[in-house]
Amino acid sequence: MPIAQKIETSLSNSSWIRRMFEEGEKLRKIYGAEKVYDFTLGNPDVEPPEAFHRELRKIAADPVPGMHRYMSNAGYEETRQAIAGVLAEDTGRPVTPGHIVMTCGAGGGLNVVLKTLLNPGEEVIVTTPYFVEYRFYVDNHGGRIKEVPTKADFQLDTAALAEAIGPNTRAIIINSPNNPSGAVYPAETLAELGRLLEQKERELGTPVYLISDEPYAKIVYEGTTVPNVFNYIKNSIIVTSHSKDLALPGERIGYIALNPDIEDSELIFDGLVFCNRTLGFVNAPALIQRLITPLQRQSVDIAAYQEKRDVIYKHLTELGFEVTKPMGAFYFFPRCPIEDDVEFVRRAQKYNLLLVPGSGFGLPGHFRLSYCMDMQVIKRGLPAFTELAREFNL
Ligand code: PLP
Repeated sequence: MPIAQKIETSLSNSSWIRRMFEEGEKLRKIYGAEKVYDFTLGNPDVEPPEAFHRELRKIAADPVPGMHRYMSNAGYEETRQAIAGVLAEDTGRPVTPGHIVMTCGAGGGLNVVLKTLLNPGEEVIVTTPYFVEYRFYVDNHGGRIKEVPTKADFQLDTAALAEAIGPNTRAIIINSPNNPSGAVYPAETLAELGRLLEQKERELGTPVYLISDEPYAKIVYEGTTVPNVFNYIKNSIIVTSHSKDLALPGERIGYIALNPDIEDSELIFDGLVFCNRTLGFVNAPALIQRLITPLQRQSVDIAAYQEKRDVIYKHLTELGFEVTKPMGAFYFFPRCPIEDDVEFVRRAQKYNLLLVPGSGFGLPGHFRLSYCMDMQVIKRGLPAFTELAREFNL
């Protein structure tokens, strides 16, 4: 076999999103792109804010000597200072550049954190439904995933988490706003989780790290805010990116931020910098670090996302789908009218409607639809949901 057995197995169990993409390609060839309603991908169709283009033009007109060279593996001091400044202002905590490591997106950042923390066989708790790549990221660094259910409204179930944490637990990954459910965890939940982790740490005599994956933190609706985990959980690490809030997923830019109160902060920082280097990222892309430095308070047009959410929510609820209203990110995770989510998604394809089964996120019986696409495309797809609902007598 030319490739490792494990990779061969992963390829043959290829992700649902990938499979649906291939299915979509097939349907597009037969029916034409206009007649295929693809709600599967989380690739923002919006453009970065004008301020980003302004910075890009400025730097192109007046390049800084040495701007394409290697730098510290943690990233530019100036960029880390800008991020630390915003986090310090938002949390009232003494966040400094010594707590920030620039990364190749949140995906790169999560790999760096997991590489730094995990000993072989240690567990990382994830809550279902979850972003499926966590499974591979944890495995990349010799860890094991432990799935813990959320409540019916996709909020964290701290009692279930309390039961799941044991001597082998190294970390918990949370993701708010959540892909795929759109849930945002309120301050009370984070405070409860903080108390639980402190109690467990005392019992177990070892830290249980909270990794907060938050690339959608600025994409929230109706005045919802995403409370900062630093204010509630001592051993917490934020991992995020500008893939969604500045619509720069192809540029691979993100960062890791350590809670200034985390135990052994300097040692963890050194570990992160070492892993950023030795995983082969070396450093986050130089040019984009410079560009995002003055843009820490910017974001894409959130109102446009909310409008899309509202149009779909109205349509799905009127049709009779059981759906929790997402308060952030750009996904819905409704219940399927039948138990078998894979069969449901297959039947949706009859109407050229592409969805992802909840099984792909560790929670069968649901489906995910993404709405980071043009409103016209969304509107064209709505009648397909009507036909699907009719088929299931909703
Ligand atoms: N985490 C979540 C929950 C995501 O949905 C994504 C991308 O879709 C990522 C992390 C990775 O994002 P990136 O590596 O582009 O920052």
